Amino acid sequence: MLTLQDYIQREIDYKFIVGWGAQLYVAQLQSKYGEFDRVKAGPEQGIDDDHLCHDCGAINGEYHVPGCDCERCPKCGCQWISCDCRFTAQGKMSQELIAKLYGKFELN
Ligand SMILES: [Zn+2]
Ligand SMILES: [Zn+2]
Repeated sequence: MLTLQDYIQREIDYKFIVGWGAQLYVAQLQSKYGEFDRVKAGPEQGIDDDHLCHDCGAINGEYHVPGCDCERCPKCGCQWISCDCRFTAQGKMSQELIAKLYGKFELN
Protein backbone atom coordinates (compact mmCIF):
# COMPACT_ATOMS: atom_id res chain seq x y z
CA MET A 1 0.00 0.00 0.00
CA LEU A 2 1.15 3.51 -0.78
CA THR A 3 2.03 5.83 2.07
CA LEU A 4 0.23 9.01 3.00
CA GLN A 5 3.22 10.87 1.56
CA ASP A 6 2.61 9.19 -1.82
CA TYR A 7 -0.98 10.40 -1.83
CA ILE A 8 0.02 13.90 -0.88
CA GLN A 9 2.52 13.85 -3.75
CA ARG A 10 -0.29 12.81 -6.12
CA GLU A 11 -2.39 15.66 -4.75
CA ILE A 12 0.42 18.06 -5.65
CA ASP A 13 1.22 16.47 -9.03
CA TYR A 14 -2.38 16.51 -10.21
CA LYS A 15 -3.39 19.75 -8.46
CA PHE A 16 -6.18 18.18 -6.39
CA ILE A 17 -7.78 20.40 -3.78
CA VAL A 18 -5.74 20.66 -0.59
CA GLY A 19 -6.32 17.67 1.69
CA TRP A 20 -7.57 15.37 -1.06
CA GLY A 21 -4.47 13.17 -0.83
CA ALA A 22 -5.43 12.34 2.75
CA GLN A 23 -9.00 11.55 1.64
CA LEU A 24 -7.66 9.07 -0.91
CA TYR A 25 -5.34 7.54 1.66
CA VAL A 26 -8.14 7.02 4.18
CA ALA A 27 -10.39 5.61 1.45
CA GLN A 28 -7.96 2.67 1.03
CA LEU A 29 -8.64 1.64 4.64
CA GLN A 30 -12.36 1.13 4.01
CA SER A 31 -12.62 -2.21 2.20
CA LYS A 32 -16.32 -2.89 2.80
CA TYR A 33 -19.73 -1.27 2.81
CA GLY A 34 -21.64 -3.23 5.39
CA GLU A 35 -21.14 -6.89 4.49
CA PHE A 36 -20.12 -6.20 0.88
CA ASP A 37 -16.59 -5.84 -0.48
CA ARG A 38 -16.13 -2.48 -2.18
CA VAL A 39 -15.44 -2.39 -5.94
CA LYS A 40 -11.95 -1.12 -6.73
CA ALA A 41 -11.16 1.31 -9.53
CA GLY A 42 -10.41 -0.52 -12.78
CA PRO A 43 -10.50 -0.59 -16.59
CA GLU A 44 -14.26 -1.25 -16.70
CA GLN A 45 -14.64 2.24 -15.19
CA GLY A 46 -12.20 3.78 -17.66
CA ILE A 47 -9.33 3.69 -15.16
CA ASP A 48 -6.06 2.11 -16.25
CA ASP A 49 -2.33 2.72 -15.92
CA ASP A 50 -2.66 5.98 -17.88
CA HIS A 51 -5.94 7.28 -16.50
CA LEU A 52 -6.89 8.20 -12.93
CA CYS A 53 -10.49 8.22 -11.78
CA HIS A 54 -11.83 11.46 -13.24
CA ASP A 55 -13.77 12.22 -10.07
CA CYS A 56 -11.64 11.19 -7.08
CA GLY A 57 -8.17 10.52 -8.53
CA ALA A 58 -7.94 6.83 -7.58
CA ILE A 59 -5.58 4.73 -9.71
CA ASN A 60 -6.22 1.25 -11.11
CA GLY A 61 -6.69 -1.18 -8.19
CA GLU A 62 -7.44 1.42 -5.53
CA TYR A 63 -10.67 2.16 -3.71
CA HIS A 64 -12.49 5.33 -4.71
CA VAL A 65 -13.05 8.06 -2.17
CA PRO A 66 -16.52 7.35 -0.70
CA GLY A 67 -19.04 9.43 -2.57
CA CYS A 68 -17.09 9.33 -5.86
CA ASP A 69 -19.53 9.20 -8.78
CA CYS A 70 -17.40 6.57 -10.53
CA GLU A 71 -17.66 3.96 -7.78
CA ARG A 72 -19.78 0.88 -8.45
CA CYS A 73 -22.25 -0.60 -5.97
CA PRO A 74 -20.68 -3.64 -4.27
CA LYS A 75 -24.01 -5.48 -4.36
CA CYS A 76 -25.56 -4.85 -7.79
CA GLY A 77 -22.78 -3.14 -9.77
CA CYS A 78 -24.61 0.05 -10.68
CA GLN A 79 -23.54 3.56 -9.68
CA TRP A 80 -23.09 3.49 -5.91
CA ILE A 81 -24.03 7.09 -5.11
CA SER A 82 -27.40 6.72 -6.84
CA CYS A 83 -28.11 3.09 -5.89
CA ASP A 84 -30.76 2.12 -3.35
CA CYS A 85 -28.43 -0.58 -2.00
CA ARG A 86 -26.45 2.03 -0.11
CA PHE A 87 -29.32 2.41 2.31
CA THR A 88 -29.23 -1.35 3.00
CA ALA A 89 -25.57 -1.13 3.93
CA GLN A 90 -25.90 2.17 5.73
CA GLY A 91 -26.69 0.65 9.12
CA LYS A 92 -23.29 -0.99 9.20
CA MET A 93 -21.30 1.96 7.91
CA SER A 94 -19.29 4.08 10.27
CA GLN A 95 -20.70 7.46 11.19
CA GLU A 96 -17.59 8.98 9.69
CA LEU A 97 -18.23 7.39 6.31
CA ILE A 98 -21.87 8.40 6.33
CA ALA A 99 -20.79 11.95 7.07
CA LYS A 100 -18.56 11.85 3.99
CA LEU A 101 -21.22 10.35 1.75
CA TYR A 102 -23.87 12.76 2.92
CA GLY A 103 -21.58 15.64 3.67
CA LYS A 104 -23.98 18.18 2.28
CA PHE A 105 -26.68 17.28 4.80
CA GLU A 106 -26.91 17.86 8.54
CA LEU A 107 -26.51 14.59 10.43
CA ASN A 108 -28.17 15.37 13.74
ZN1 LIG B 1 -13.24 7.69 -8.02
ZN1 LIG C 1 -26.76 -1.54 -5.70
